[in-house]
Amino acid sequence: MPKHIDSSSGGLTPRSGKPHSNVPPEHPDLSRRGFLDTALLAAAAAWLVPCPRLRADDGIVGVIKNAAATGAITVQPLRGNVSVILGSGGNIAVLSGPDGTLLVDAGIAVSQRKITDALASISGDPVKHLINTHWHFDHTDGNRWLHEAGAEIIAHENTRKRLMVRHRVQGWHFTFPPAPKGALPSVVFKKDLAIDVNGAHLKLDYYQPAHTDSDIAVHFTDADVLHVADTWWNGVYPFIDYSSGGSIDGAIDAAEANLARVTEKTVVIPGHGAVGNKADLREFRDMLVSIRERVAALKEAGRSLAQTIAAKPTAAFDEKWGKFVITPDAFTELVYQGV
Ligand SMILES: [Zn+2]
Repeated sequence: MPKHIDSSSGGLTPRSGKPHSNVPPEHPDLSRRGFLDTALLAAAAAWLVPCPRLRADDGIVGVIKNAAATGAITVQPLRGNVSVILGSGGNIAVLSGPDGTLLVDAGIAVSQRKITDALASISGDPVKHLINTHWHFDHTDGNRWLHEAGAEIIAHENTRKRLMVRHRVQGWHFTFPPAPKGALPSVVFKKDLAIDVNGAHLKLDYYQPAHTDSDIAVHFTDADVLHVADTWWNGVYPFIDYSSGGSIDGAIDAAEANLARVTEKTVVIPGHGAVGNKADLREFRDMLVSIRERVAALKEAGRSLAQTIAAKPTAAFDEKWGKFVITPDAFTELVYQGV
């Protein structure tokens, strides 16, 4: 059962938000998109890692795990005692201090040794707290070992809900088994949660369904560092997980919400890509809105998906945004699905 943390648990003091324990078994299984898998795989294989161990049947999940297993992990100090670890799935924010290290996202489990080394280079503090920004494996795969190392896991209630059941992510051509018990968040909330730890104040806020229906932002308010989960992929087309309640319109709403809450001074950690700022968030929002308009116009004019892709509605953006795992054609399909 998820529980409500209190001041006795490692110095964490939630100020608001209510934990929820009603977790109905639910896993929407979705539709098609075979070619998207192929496009994702090809792009990921080309971009992420020139790894001889890659096989076509590994799928995108295997590709990302192999990339984490073979790639470098880097640590980037940000502001105050907040750093970011890049190179194991989603970006991991780190807050160190006497109450124990707090992580935002867990990376890929195969990175355990490298992440342990990276954390040791930041501080000698044991890991006590882990926040998941959403349920996707490239942000939660390390939950189990981090929990065994002593971390209490905090997340939105939908993250726990989705991790508890078998779940198909059609866009990845992969079915995830239920997560082991130790990998499940033990503290969940519905709307927002405030936490005081290591002398810092953290504000956790739920987005409405955007990239998934479990996305949260984590704001280190004193340092003014904001982790925006996978509502922002810096410099690359984002994945949108319709099989987990995501949509292009939700993604745009989240991009607007991010812009509204940051200032020119806020350091913004994307789910994927380099750490950036408000101007970068604006450029991402503008890209999403522009491509949505173009794809919607084509769909409203009666174009099929294949015809829409052939019309290349993303062309003006592809040079900058189209070189990561989500190719121009794949992103067009993700947008088409939601307009
Ligand atoms: Zn994600």
